[in-house]
Amino acid sequence: MLFPSSAKIAKVSLLSCSNLNLRFTRMASNQKWSVEKSRILGLPTEEKRKLYKSDFITLDKVETWSQYFDLNKGIADKKPTDDDLNEFRKITLDSGKNKELSQKVSIFKGDITKLEVDAIINAANSRLKAGGGVDGAIHRAAGPLLQDECNSIGGCPTGEARITGAYNLPAKYVIHTVGPQNGSAPNLKSCYENSLTLQKENKLKSIAFPCISTGIYGFPNRLAAHIALQSARKYLESNDLDRIIFCTFMPVDVDIYETLMQIYFPTN
Ligand code: ADP
Repeated sequence: MLFPSSAKIAKVSLLSCSNLNLRFTRMASNQKWSVEKSRILGLPTEEKRKLYKSDFITLDKVETWSQYFDLNKGIADKKPTDDDLNEFRKITLDSGKNKELSQKVSIFKGDITKLEVDAIINAANSRLKAGGGVDGAIHRAAGPLLQDECNSIGGCPTGEARITGAYNLPAKYVIHTVGPQNGSAPNLKSCYENSLTLQKENKLKSIAFPCISTGIYGFPNRLAAHIALQSARKYLESNDLDRIIFCTFMPVDVDIYETLMQIYFPTN
């Protein structure tokens, strides 16, 4: 019978040790996001707030559309165009719900990363790699573990959505959706619908959307707002949640949303 020399045994066990170490290190960094995600989700609000990198805005500080409309009298002068009305007629409103629903939506002018809501939506790219625009802002404010969790997902096709933790962000979760780069309206609609499906599956009560695809991806702002508002209106008519916030970062979007919210979410 042949026995391996003790030198050979030592070499083999050394090699397997270093392989094992490497695997443990990889596993540890892979799982760091997972451990941290659960820890942060379990923190009391005051403790979680110590993680934020900047100031934050709580939901009760974001006016409902109904309050916003009452406070900003000039908005009533902003009238939809004939093209707006043609687009609007693609859906039928359950008008009995108008008053209630005008209190379940908001326009928020500013940086989505400040919102302390259940989830903010990220206009992500299909590789789920930190990029520019709102995506870059979200990754910077969340910290590097967000990218680690995105890497574990791998990617996301256009029109679909994936949910992750939000780490150092004031929000609890980030929903990453990939908007179209080719102006496809059905794909943009899917972004809103799939994000809202994740809201429901995860029982989230307050969520905020940026104007998906209207930045680097070049989707026309006005049609994008119609798609966002149609999707939200139909969804709110048959689903229960406290607030959908439309985050309008650019003045052009503030103007469009102030006009179109009046037809999709009449306050009386
Ligand atoms: P896309 O690649 O889908 O076009 P962008 O990030 O380029 O995504 O733009 C989407 C929208 O997000 C644009 O209206 C842009 O002005 C807006 N945006 C950029 N930064 C922020 C931010 N920090 N908060 C909210 N919206 C933002």
